[in-house]
Amino acid sequence: MATDLQIAVRKVSSVNPATGEVLREFECANEVEVRAVVARVRAAQSAWAEIGVRSRVAVLREFQRKLQEKKLEIAEAITREAGKPVAEALTTEVLVVLDAARFLIDNAYRLLRDEPVPHGNLATKLKSGRLVREPYGVVGIISPWNYPFSIPATETLAALVAGNAVVLKPSEFTSLVALELRSLLHAAGVPRDVFQVVVGDGATGAALIHSRIDEAKTGEAKIDKLVFTGSVATGKRIAAAAAERLLPMVLELGGKDPMLVLDDADVDVASSAAVWGAFVNAGQTCLSVERCYVHRSLYERFLRACAETTKKLHVGHGLDRETDVGPMIHERQLRIVEAHVEDAVARGARVLAGGSRLPDLGTKFYAPTVLADVTHEMSIMREETFGPVLPVMAFDSDEEALQLANDSEYGLAASVWTRDRARGERLARRIRAGTVMVNDVVSCFGISEAPHGGVKSSGVGRAHGRFGLEEMVRLKYLDSDLVPGMKKVWWYRYGTSFSRQMEGFIDFQFARGLGERVRGMLRAAGVVGRKQL
Ligand code: NAD
Repeated sequence: MATDLQIAVRKVSSVNPATGEVLREFECANEVEVRAVVARVRAAQSAWAEIGVRSRVAVLREFQRKLQEKKLEIAEAITREAGKPVAEALTTEVLVVLDAARFLIDNAYRLLRDEPVPHGNLATKLKSGRLVREPYGVVGIISPWNYPFSIPATETLAALVAGNAVVLKPSEFTSLVALELRSLLHAAGVPRDVFQVVVGDGATGAALIHSRIDEAKTGEAKIDKLVFTGSVATGKRIAAAAAERLLPMVLELGGKDPMLVLDDADVDVASSAAVWGAFVNAGQTCLSVERCYVHRSLYERFLRACAETTKKLHVGHGLDRETDVGPMIHERQLRIVEAHVEDAVARGARVLAGGSRLPDLGTKFYAPTVLADVTHEMSIMREETFGPVLPVMAFDSDEEALQLANDSEYGLAASVWTRDRARGERLARRIRAGTVMVNDVVSCFGISEAPHGGVKSSGVGRAHGRFGLEEMVRLKYLDSDLVPGMKKVWWYRYGTSFSRQMEGFIDFQFARGLGERVRGMLRAAGVVGRKQL
């Protein structure tokens, strides 16, 4: 019998943004498929946890070896799908992951082992406490397209070494890179079902968060922790969905990072940094220089230097080794850039370089653009642009620069440029951001020891380093009594003298004067022979 009921199969395409070539089409994993994957991954997790940290570190070492061998192949796969120059794929993706593996290989055992918790309170001296770090179980990772390898890989390695199993939902624009990561991990010895990828769009991601089935019938199929990297808008939707089931999460969201060039900065160095920080990955970097504030005494010189350097950049296909700046990822992102530039120009900004698309190169190319005389009334200084635009504004004092830097709903990272490091660090402490660099930009993402994450709308929780690893474990406090045959003095029965003894005990520990302490000790002493129930 004919029926109108159709099961819609959603598809996503992997496209080379430089050429428009469709690299592969995928059917999006639907809710049923996502649940089945989560259930399989959950079933495999406990055996992975049981093999112990040292065995998992050995797998990471093998992963590192294989990635080092295949570095160029992986970098070129990233370039084909995300557009960035191969040199950037090597440095900001492959190298970052190799070093994240190095950090975990060197430190995971020490950071994950039990940690004693000494007790200061005399009442609890006869107990031994420890922190035990247990894997969550299944960690769901939802990732964006702009760093399609380094973001999911660094998060995955931390989750795996801690004993979790992982389900990764990569961006619908970069599924192929995620499959490369899967191949590497499986080849290195991560069991098939301990790391799985579900390909699809936002609905597939939503299914991963909601994944939960009738536990009585099919067993548990839900993730235990979510690590999300993406836009603030999606992050808020995800936080609401996760709150419904009190799912613990890390949110690594957007940024509008300010760069503050103080009056004693080296203009040549700072302008090079601004150009690289604004245009690396065609400006599609969460830590991009999105706002640049320059002291008025350097302003025109700085602008001239930025415009000159920008005009020398080679824009082109990422596979061409001459290329400095590649294409943007998709039309929607280009339109945001165009709208921000148009708004700025309409409100009085000057275009010193770029300012339009480059149709001769392809449909996704936008010229690296330097804008002068921008203000905080313009969307280019308030909303995330995520494209190759460097908007520059003058300031007159450090206080004004600080106020402008903090005048944002975002707080991912920032940078301060000065020849006086102490002055830079003083200002850095007053900027509301997860990271502030003095005399560098963006590279904090490649420092494996450094925590990465934001404040305000830029996110919750941390990735990378010790704090990123801590996000992958539940803390259990384990306490053992050292005299199990003894009743605790604070148990029943209280009787008439117990409160007096306790007053004495409190004075013994916390009173100011020595005499009062000694008197307290004498009063407390009676507690020892006390009759208890
Ligand atoms: P996005 O928010 O559009 O998508 C991110 C991921 O979420 C994708 O995998 C997408 O399919 C998925 N998704 C979309 N809707 C969903 C839903 N309702 N439920 C579950 N999953 C859903 O972001 P994007 O365009 O891929 O990435 C760019 C953004 O990511 C920028 O804002 C950038 O600043 C941010 N970012 C932040 C960091 C960081 O570390 N803070 C790093 C990289 C990128």
